[in-house]
Amino acid sequence: MTVIFPTTGRRETLTDPFGRTIRYLRVSVTDRCDFRCHYCMSEDMTFLPKRDVLSLEELERLCSTFVRLGTRKIRLTGGEPLVRKGITTLIETLGRHLASGDLEELTLTTNGSQLAHRARDLAALGIRRINVSLDTLVPEKFRSITRWGEIGPVLEGIDAALEAGLKIKINTVAVRGFNDDEFDDLIRFAHGRGMDMTLIETMPLGEVGGQRADQYLPLTAVRADLETRFRLVDVDDTTGGPARYVRIAETGGRLGFITPLTHNFCESCNRVRLTCTGTLYMCLGQDASVDLRSVLRTRPDDDAALEAAIRGAVAAKPKGHDFVIDRSQGDTVLHRHMNTTGG
Ligand code: SAM
Ligand code: SF4
Repeated sequence: MTVIFPTTGRRETLTDPFGRTIRYLRVSVTDRCDFRCHYCMSEDMTFLPKRDVLSLEELERLCSTFVRLGTRKIRLTGGEPLVRKGITTLIETLGRHLASGDLEELTLTTNGSQLAHRARDLAALGIRRINVSLDTLVPEKFRSITRWGEIGPVLEGIDAALEAGLKIKINTVAVRGFNDDEFDDLIRFAHGRGMDMTLIETMPLGEVGGQRADQYLPLTAVRADLETRFRLVDVDDTTGGPARYVRIAETGGRLGFITPLTHNFCESCNRVRLTCTGTLYMCLGQDASVDLRSVLRTRPDDDAALEAAIRGAVAAKPKGHDFVIDRSQGDTVLHRHMNTTGG
C-alpha cells in the first residue's frame, strides 16, 4: 500500500515476502571502537581499510533513500558511532528528515565513552533518546569486559546526557559468571535515574577468542531469579522491537529482555541493517546480504537503481535467524562480529 505524506508528496513502503513492513534501519557507521568488549570483538581485531568504508555522503544518500522508501526510524551504531569522524555532520544532515516529519526518530547506540562532551550537541541536533551499553558498575570489571575501558567517563556521559534532556535506555549483555550478581544493582542504578534497562542474551556473532557457551546466560533463568526479589509486571510492548518488557513494582522502572536464543522474535521483525561498507543484512542472524556500495559507486546518480537494489534485498529477507549456542556444535554460527553488523 502506498501512503501519501504531505511533506514529500510520495511515500512508499518496503514489505518483505512474509508481510513484514520494513520501517527501521540500523546503520553501523564504523567498525572501529575505543573498547574491545569480550563478547563483541577479539583483542587483535583487524579493522577495515578506509577505502572500503562508506563516506559520510554515501551514508547520507543511503539513509535518505531508505527514508524515501518508508523508513521511519534510523539507529546509528557501530563499532562506536561517536568515534566516527564527522558523525555530528551526518546526524545534522539526516536531521532534515526529522524536521520534515518523514523520519520519526533518529537515535544511536553508544558505549558512552564520548557522551560527556557530545550529549548537548546530540540533543540540539534532534536526538531524543539513546541506548547506552553498560554491563557492570564496578570499575575493575568494566576494565576487564571492555579490555581497557574506564567506567568514569561513561558515567559522566550518562549524567551529561540526562542533563541535556536525552532519554536513556541502558543495554546490559548478560554474561555468565561476570555480571549475574550485579543485575539488582544495575536495575536500581538505571531506574533510580529514570532510565529504562534492557538485558540482552549473548549472540553467537564472530570469533571472540573465548567460549560463547561459557558466557551464555539464558534470560529465562535471570528472570526467574529476579522474580524471587522483585515483582515483575508484564507491560505491552510498544516498541515493535525484540525486547519484551516488564515494570518492576519496587522501582517503577521498565526492564526489557532481548532473548534471541530462548525466544525467537523474528515474526515481528521490522528492521534491516546496513554496515559501514554498504552491505545490507536483512537479518542479524543470517548471512544473506546485498552489496549496496557497488550500486552507490558505479551508479552515483541513479536513485532508481539504488531503490531497486534495496527492494530486491528486502524481497530476500529471511523468515528468521538460526542462532544456536551449543557446545557440541561449536558456538559461533556467524563469522561476522557484532561491530560489523551493528548491534
Ligand atoms: N559501541 C556501541 C555500544 O557498545 O553500545 C554500539 C555498538 S554495539 C555492537 C551495540 C550493542 O550490541 C551493545 O549493547 C553491545 O553490548 C551489544 N553486543 C555486542 N556484541 C554482542 C553479542 N555477541 N551478543 C549480544 N549483544 C552484543
Ligand atoms: Fe565496542 Fe560496543 Fe563492541 Fe563494546 S559492544 S567492543 S563498545 S562496539
